[in-house]
Amino acid sequence: MAVPKRRMSRANTHARRSQWKTTAPAVSTCDRCRQPKLQHTACPTCGTYNKRQVIAV
Ligand SMILES: [Zn+2]
Repeated sequence: MAVPKRRMSRANTHARRSQWKTTAPAVSTCDRCRQPKLQHTACPTCGTYNKRQVIAV
């Protein structure tokens, strides 16, 4: 049976696929309508981004 020749580094052990976890998406509040929105996206409720109207709602 094959045996590992070298010890695996802590970083590689930690990066093993079985250690991959899902994390909740970063949600912030819109500073115009106070509705929750994803960061770095235009607000789906009022259509503003960086206090600027970017999409017509
Ligand atoms: Zn908004």
